[in-house]
Order: sequence, then C-alpha cells, then structure tokens
Amino acid sequence: MKYIGAHVSSSGGVENAPLNASQIGATTFALFTKNQRQWHALPLSEQSITLFKENCEKLAFRLDKILPHDSYLINLGHPQKDGLEKSRASFLEEMQRCEQLGLRLLNFHPGSSLKEISTEECLKRIAESINITLDKTQGVCAVIENTAGQGSNVGNRFEELKYIIDLVEDKDRVGVCIDTCHAFAAGYDLMTEDAFQQTMKTFDEVVGFSYLRGMHINDSKKGVGSKVDRHECIGEGEIGVDAFRFIMQDPRFDEIPLILETPDETRWKQEIEMLMSFCK
Ligand SMILES: [Zn+2]
Ligand SMILES: [Zn+2]
Repeated sequence: MKYIGAHVSSSGGVENAPLNASQIGATTFALFTKNQRQWHALPLSEQSITLFKENCEKLAFRLDKILPHDSYLINLGHPQKDGLEKSRASFLEEMQRCEQLGLRLLNFHPGSSLKEISTEECLKRIAESINITLDKTQGVCAVIENTAGQGSNVGNRFEELKYIIDLVEDKDRVGVCIDTCHAFAAGYDLMTEDAFQQTMKTFDEVVGFSYLRGMHINDSKKGVGSKVDRHECIGEGEIGVDAFRFIMQDPRFDEIPLILETPDETRWKQEIEMLMSFCK
C-alpha cells in the first residue's frame, strides 16, 4: 500500500497535525513536534501526547508511517564544539519527543561543514552524532534526508549518505529519505522513465532500497544539477509529472511515507488525489 500525505501544521499542539492531515485526504503525514525555528521547546504535555495518539487512531493514521521532521537549526556535523553540542542536545530532545509520541522515524538534514571542515570530516561528525543519540533512545530510526547540495550542506550525493550509514553502529535504526526535488537539484535526473530508473538503480547500488524509509514528493523550480532547493507543485516544475507517476506505480515505494512539501498547501488535497489516481 502507498502512504501519501503532506507536511502539515502542528500549530496549537501536535494533536492537531492528524486532524489537518485528515482534512486533505492523506493516509500519513509529516510534522514538526516543536517550533522548527527554536532550539528548545516546553516538554510535550501528557494531554497533548494522549490526544495525538487518540487522534491518530481515530483517523486511522499508523504511528510507524508518520515522518516527523527535526528543527532547521540543528547541524549534526557542525565544525565548532559549541554548535555541535547544542545540535546534539536538541536532536536528542527531538528523538525523545518522537519516543513519547510513539513515532518510529525522525527525518533530518545531515548537516553542513560551513566550509570550515572537509566534507568527510563533516560526515564523520554526523555519524557520531547519530550514534550518540541512538545510544540514548529506543525504537526511533534516524532518517537522513538527501540535500540539494546548496551552500556547504553535505549529503547531496548518495555516496555521502552511504558514508554516514557505514559509520552508524545500529543499522536497523538508520535510514534515508529521498527528496525528489533535492535529488534532481543535486544532479540526479528524474524526467524520463530511463532517467528515473537509472537514478533509482544508482541509489540501490550505492545506498540500497532496504534503507529507504520515506520520500519527500516535490517538483523542482530549478533545473537538474542546479543545486538550488526550491520546491514546486507536482507537475509544474522542471521534473514534470511523469516521475511522480513512476513512483506511485513502483512497489519499491510501498509501505513508506510519501510526503508532499509543495509550496501551495491549498492544493495538497488535489495533489494527493492525483497521486492516488496514479496507483492504478
Ligand atoms: Zn527536509
Ligand atoms: Zn527542500
């Protein structure tokens, strides 16, 4: 089965996210479990946790298919000690919130070298950050998102994702989320069936589909290899609608969250309907 949703608002409390997802006809969703632009948040209240679980159950959202996203401030490969420690503390907090909510995945951007350390050194720090966090938590998988390669962000090449995975001790609790816009901007073509299949073959050879824990379903405003991270509505960007049809018809993308992060949320309902219509 395909699980399709969008990154919905959790404003007013995490318990509102499943309500928002239900309104757009989603079968899963992504959310921030705290304000994504702040380092720290008040702990989740017992009431919020209970209501979140109740709403998910009532609306038939499976907790293990939901794909929470961490704060944009966190840099698990930070070149400086202070920034790294702050990031690790905040990431641990995020993972503990997932544990409390009964969630099994936590999606995050690998990190940035800030051009102060090498890519390799940055990737090593990220892996170490993951190991430290997994040691202190249970049951939540660290899901690394591929990047567009903008600025000094690492993790735009599949080889870099694999490099991190190789250094993570608990292989059952590390995985990957492919963002189609980021992959395309990083130079992985998806426009034609041949290009799409070639990109996925490369992914399988380098990382392996067994590590694929989720997808971000976005078209791209900029062209292949542009290294610019600008999402577009499905079928209206440079990738085009075909790639999304291929994903929906391909069983390799079954049983994982497929999450829209397209720019016009008033169209998510329609976009979900369109994606579901591709599933034959
Ligand atoms: Zn992301
Ligand atoms: Zn993006």
